[in-house]
Amino acid sequence: MTMTIDAPTKNRWVYAFGGGTADGDASMRNLLGGKGANLAEMSKLGLPVPSGFTITTAVCTEYYKNGRVYPSDLADEVDAAIRALEKDTGKGFGLVANPLLVSVRSGSRASMPGMMDTVLNLGLNSQTVEGLAALSGNRRFALDSYRRFIQMYGSVVMHLPHDTFEAILEEYKDFNDIPRADENKPPLDTDLTAEHWDEVIQAYKAAVQKKLGRPFPEDPREQIWGAISAVFASWMNDRAILYRKLHDIPESWGTAVSVQSMVFGNMGDSSATGVAFTRDPSNGENQFYGEFLKNAQGEDVVAGLRTPTPISKMRRERLGGDEPSLEESMPEVFAQLKSVADTLERHYRDMQDIEFTVERGRLYMLQTRNGKRTAAAALKIAVDMRAEGLIDERTAILRVEPSQLDQLLHPTISPGAKRDVICKGLPASPGAAVGKIVFDSDKAAEWAAAGHAVILVRLETSPDDIKGMHASRAIVTARGGMTSHAAVVARGMGRPCVCGISELSIDSKTGEMKARGRVFREGDVISIDGGRGEVLAGAVDLIDPDLSGDFGLLMEWSDKVRRLSVRANAETPLDVRVARDFGAEGIGLCRTEHMFFDPSRIPVMQEMILSETEKGRRAALARLIPFQRSDFAEIFRLMGDRPCTIRLLDPPLHEFLPHKAEDIARVAEASGIPAHVLEARVKSLHESNPMLGHRGCRLAISYPEIYEMQAQAIFEAAIEVGKETGKMPKPEIMIPFVATRLELSMIRERVEAVARNVFRDKGQVLDYLIGTMIELPRAALRAEEIAKDAEFFSFGTNDMTQTALGISRDDAGSFLGTYEARGIYPKDPFVSIDVDGVGELVRIGIERGRKGRPDLKLGVCGEHGGDPASVEFFHSAGLDYVSCSPYRVPIARLAAAHAALKAR
Ligand code: PEP
Ligand code: MG
Repeated sequence: MTMTIDAPTKNRWVYAFGGGTADGDASMRNLLGGKGANLAEMSKLGLPVPSGFTITTAVCTEYYKNGRVYPSDLADEVDAAIRALEKDTGKGFGLVANPLLVSVRSGSRASMPGMMDTVLNLGLNSQTVEGLAALSGNRRFALDSYRRFIQMYGSVVMHLPHDTFEAILEEYKDFNDIPRADENKPPLDTDLTAEHWDEVIQAYKAAVQKKLGRPFPEDPREQIWGAISAVFASWMNDRAILYRKLHDIPESWGTAVSVQSMVFGNMGDSSATGVAFTRDPSNGENQFYGEFLKNAQGEDVVAGLRTPTPISKMRRERLGGDEPSLEESMPEVFAQLKSVADTLERHYRDMQDIEFTVERGRLYMLQTRNGKRTAAAALKIAVDMRAEGLIDERTAILRVEPSQLDQLLHPTISPGAKRDVICKGLPASPGAAVGKIVFDSDKAAEWAAAGHAVILVRLETSPDDIKGMHASRAIVTARGGMTSHAAVVARGMGRPCVCGISELSIDSKTGEMKARGRVFREGDVISIDGGRGEVLAGAVDLIDPDLSGDFGLLMEWSDKVRRLSVRANAETPLDVRVARDFGAEGIGLCRTEHMFFDPSRIPVMQEMILSETEKGRRAALARLIPFQRSDFAEIFRLMGDRPCTIRLLDPPLHEFLPHKAEDIARVAEASGIPAHVLEARVKSLHESNPMLGHRGCRLAISYPEIYEMQAQAIFEAAIEVGKETGKMPKPEIMIPFVATRLELSMIRERVEAVARNVFRDKGQVLDYLIGTMIELPRAALRAEEIAKDAEFFSFGTNDMTQTALGISRDDAGSFLGTYEARGIYPKDPFVSIDVDGVGELVRIGIERGRKGRPDLKLGVCGEHGGDPASVEFFHSAGLDYVSCSPYRVPIARLAAAHAALKAR
């Protein structure tokens, strides 16, 4: 029998499916919702789908547009669809001898799990329930179905509080002497007989009458309109509205409503219900995978009250369960299910997540959709399906989410490991590590040098912790948000990091940390899961990432299609090597300030800062230049002829000075400067808002000799390496925090003069570029004139976000979470670029910059350079490259490929 409805000539509101045919198909997702479109498609494929019909999303849109009134011809179309359904099933709505029962479910274009309402077993009333009892030969089952319907309909459609029915049921159990299967437990639902349920149903109905002053509806047509309206109304419930905001789902999409004839997995031992995946969603192996429950309804699987059994014999044996698998207990059904799964996977060319029910030995398909999967599974499935010829290379690239790759680049906790959680915070940098607790950066470096694995635990971190952070396997801080110093630096170094753990208190003096009533001391072993933001007690087993094989192949495919280049933000030889090995095509940001914290350099740096005269500063800088030269030479050697952007000194000088009394005393002694003089100088350098203070190019306007030393070191190192390797590096010198053209042109002149001197002394010239960071709104607005003095721009979107939004990078943690939750900023703007605001400044900077200099080279080096959504924006805005932390380079490569493919 076929299930199609003659198409009316005007707008059509209802599409039928079932019986091997359908009015719609999978391409009509926008109109029929994901669920409705896939039910139609499965039906067309001839798969066993219970018949039904879908009321379109257009009805939802009209309904809200017209003040919650349905299109006038909808009722006739629904009536016709019900009649067709009755004809197809041979059952009748309200027909006692053979009642038609249906489910009414929501389904929008984008999946919104659990946000909207569903009603099951609709069509039951005091008479049809007896018909169902006679047909099934199981009155208890029929009454149980009826009371479930009253409960669901009562709360979803009639808006009675859900616990109204729970309370009646509990009270009934308490006041009746119900024989139990397990004497030691209070009576369970399964202990109730048909007679008990009969009485519960009467009590439910009496409660409805009492609370609402009207009876529970007996007429299935009244019931179905109630349910349809409730589902459409649920599009506007608070949960759904918030979910849409968070996932950028437009309200105008609306939901569809699918009405489908019920099948029952709880009709005895030849009935069952379950879910299956066509491949293993955890590791991607091409093995049919799933779980089922005998004699159960779908909601029992979801509620998790009983433990489901694997569907395949192999997995059941592997897990050692006693219950037979579906393959063993219903071999024919299993074979049919497997063949349906194969058909669906070949048809959709993707791994499917399917829901099925077996009613008295007959298989029915209730849903199929592309299955969610881990990063490892996504990679394996994409590469395997490409090899099997199911998908092309372009599709394979798009099948792996760039943000998921993070899970594959770091060691992770073995899935079977026992997790004893000490406390939880923000998942600031992914990966897992095991080590001994250390509360002090110097000690971390010392212990690491002695061969211990350490984890640095601090209230918060600052630039002087760099060395300790580098020496540690992971970093934990009680304070700070996703862009706090600890988080940014840890991500850059590829160290797992958990920050902002408000439940953690640290007393570094006594060497203790406390959380949830437990105390841990220095030296105790803990484990960190940076991906989940958890700190665990003891050592857990870790597994290493595999970056060759499938991963290498995906990267190769991505590189062929992307337009954006990918560089890395790196300065230490270790980071530069990681970046290069991950495929960085250059260095987009070398933060030179990190090079001054080494114990052999910091005293000289401090001496330079503390000098009162230019002469004194120049003397100290002359002692720093060999260090800088060798640092730069090392980077040039590692990167060969790839471009390297080196940023001249950026942070305010006080960051290099001691602040605590004991540190001031130590530095005073080492430098020979009296402690009170030192203290006065530290005080004079204090700034109330250092992020907007004497930093970046402003330092070089006051003390040009600092940048002169750095420029000289860069040119000398490049010439030295060029002579050594035969390949002249092409340095790009970057001036930070520029707001006006004059700042840049003054500094540019100085750098060019240094270049001329070096080239003369060395008898060698060198190609180099001078450019600037665009990280202040004024610089973006005045980009045209600034570009006259800059051969390249690198957008510093960290500072640009801070200055455009007026939100401090270091203090955002305390309120940004609330902002995100309320949807004021849909995502943390320090993590994913605020396209409307900061993004507009970037677009303006690009457009005006190119006007000033048509061949201007354009990139970005803020944290956003490694965020997939931001990379998509940078691609569309027309940048030449993105630069990100070394460990995010593969993510950016894949994200750039996605951006290019999506833009085609
Ligand atoms: C930026 O501001 O985006 C940037 C890359 O510089 P930093 O993070 O070092 O201030
Ligand atoms: Mg900056």
